[in-house]
Amino acid sequence: MDGLCLENLSKRFGDKLAVDDVSLEIPRGSWLVLAGPSGCGKTTLLRLIAGLEVPSAGQVYINQERVTHWPPAKRQVAMAFQQPSLIGHMTVRANWMFAMSSEKVDRGERQRRIEAAAEALDLASLLDRYPRELSGGECQRAALGRLLVRRPLLQLFDEPFNQLDLPLRTRLRRLLLEHPPCQETTTVFVTHDQSEAMTMADRLAIMWEGRLLQVGRPEELYCRPLYRQVAEFLGEPPMNFFQAYLRFSDGRWWLESHGARWLVCDPNSFSVKNPSLLPAAGQPTLVDVGVRPEHCRWCTEPPSLESGQLLTVPGQIRRLWYQGADRYAEIRCESLAVFLVRIPADELPPSDSHGWLVVPLDRLHLFDAQSGNRVN
Ligand code: ATP
Repeated sequence: MDGLCLENLSKRFGDKLAVDDVSLEIPRGSWLVLAGPSGCGKTTLLRLIAGLEVPSAGQVYINQERVTHWPPAKRQVAMAFQQPSLIGHMTVRANWMFAMSSEKVDRGERQRRIEAAAEALDLASLLDRYPRELSGGECQRAALGRLLVRRPLLQLFDEPFNQLDLPLRTRLRRLLLEHPPCQETTTVFVTHDQSEAMTMADRLAIMWEGRLLQVGRPEELYCRPLYRQVAEFLGEPPMNFFQAYLRFSDGRWWLESHGARWLVCDPNSFSVKNPSLLPAAGQPTLVDVGVRPEHCRWCTEPPSLESGQLLTVPGQIRRLWYQGADRYAEIRCESLAVFLVRIPADELPPSDSHGWLVVPLDRLHLFDAQSGNRVN
């Protein structure tokens, strides 16, 4: 396959396995966003792809060529780092010219690329300045320009916007998504910002402690996370969790928590993806139950029980959160600790009011409490 292919790639620093047996394919011309919490190995993986680190095991292929031990310059990879890394004694224009020096393009084409990048980044009047004469945001844009003027086989972004304010971030994200040469190049874009990850991704990969947990379309990962860590990472405000026992009895699946007992669903429709996690008959399995704030409802009247379709818990509003267009109620439930619930914009329940937390059972995400693997 043309594009980028990683085969069982690992990197160990002493005792620390920073990248753990990662295999991944990114077809030529497509974008993969690599996201995960700080320290999970994202930068190390990018550095292995770029040739700035030597892997402890595994292979890297670019357009079917094995490049695992090639030096960075030979790989035709362009990289934008967290810290803008411009050459200090060169102007922005000279930095960009230098970035193109390994490509066989004539002077006119270089000039055209510089003009296009300067216009896109709003840097036309600053091309003859030195990095020390630029603000932090201008420096980061100039560093991005160094990548935009190139036509590499692969482009790697390592949190390139982390020093910018939100409006500029949004503008630059759009610019990358709309700049044809950028869009058409095989890309790995690293971020630890889950909203940036969802916006920028064709495909999204979530890393955790060096391992690649799940790869797929952003909505797939959001709607059906296969690991608790993926469920926790995606979504703002994050998913609510409580612990419960999953038990099979009387021919049905039940969830039990603090004396409350809910029928999850009938055995025909409850699909367990990982049979080894099935509790033996009558034996309960401890699970983490996740529910997204937008899938909970707050009712001031007791809801009618629709044949076990709803999880219903009495609770009390402790606080209201305002987040621009959305508002959330923080609810303390007798048995499930604290839950965040999205409240429709035209409803304003008073703080401290009592009511019922209601969740459709098909919105529950169940994860084995020990392994974090999805159960349902
Ligand atoms: P962040 O989002 O904070 O940049 P990250 O996901 O990019 O984090 P890495 O920088 O790849 O994470 O680091 C992964 C792990 O490897 C961390 O525990 C880090 O301390 C360790 N590590 C990275 N580089 C080295 C090194 N040169 N020597 C020793 N340990 C390292």
